[in-house]
Amino acid sequence: MRVRGLHKSYGELEVLRGIDLDVVAGEVVCLIGPSGSGKSTLLRCLNLLETPQAGSISVDGFTVTDPDLDVDAMRRRVGMVFQQFNLFPHLSVLENCTMAQVKVLKRPAAEARRVALANLRRVGLSEKADQRPAQLSGGQQQRVAIARALSVDPDLMLFDEPTSALDPETVGDVLSIMRGLAADGMTMLVVTHEMSFARDVADRVVFMDGGVVVEQGPAREVIGSPQHQRTRTFLSRVL
Ligand code: ADP
Ligand code: MG
Repeated sequence: MRVRGLHKSYGELEVLRGIDLDVVAGEVVCLIGPSGSGKSTLLRCLNLLETPQAGSISVDGFTVTDPDLDVDAMRRRVGMVFQQFNLFPHLSVLENCTMAQVKVLKRPAAEARRVALANLRRVGLSEKADQRPAQLSGGQQQRVAIARALSVDPDLMLFDEPTSALDPETVGDVLSIMRGLAADGMTMLVVTHEMSFARDVADRVVFMDGGVVVEQGPAREVIGSPQHQRTRTFLSRVL
């Protein structure tokens, strides 16, 4: 993924002020920064949930911001996991994982079911396939959300603070699934305040503040010896 000169405003409020960012295949990038710095807005632009006013985003050589682009074709390359899970409450766990496959990828129902069950197994929840999201714990719901995102075979997974809404005892389960994905070579862009995850798993850490990338580099360098005062101030609050 290649992002250049991305700008996004809501009315007078300029939230993204020229973002340049690359994520190469197989790389795990952690995006950190204070609340309100534009991290969620950036992820929403990358998944075309928001339309930026300027700049370009390309994935696999396709320019996402091209107005002629088939948005569905693009969206299926990018999986997204939200802080609040965003599962469909009226559908079963299995149906949550088959819906996009059938509706967007036009997969036959039997194949969609097979893929969904394989991904539920991967997150350790195949025995919950027939339950409703509300019957699961927060950590289990987030694992279903990961299985759902994986079920459309994305090239890139975006995670927006996937553990921030979880009880402390379920955070570890979700992080270990994410570690597994990273070890399997999934390309991931992860907004997180889990600095130990960033330090252990990320190939690169990007620090954002005020709608710009302030500093980026190998995880150990950015977290261990940040170059900018704003990064130091932020890290002193979260570490
Ligand atoms: P972060 O995820 O880093 O906490 P956000 O991207 O959520 O930051 O928000 C950045 C800024 O954009 C905040 O000031 C927020 O209030 C504002 N913002 C986000 N979404 C909207 C929206 N839909 N309409 C107006 N302002 C928004
Ligand atoms: Mg956010």
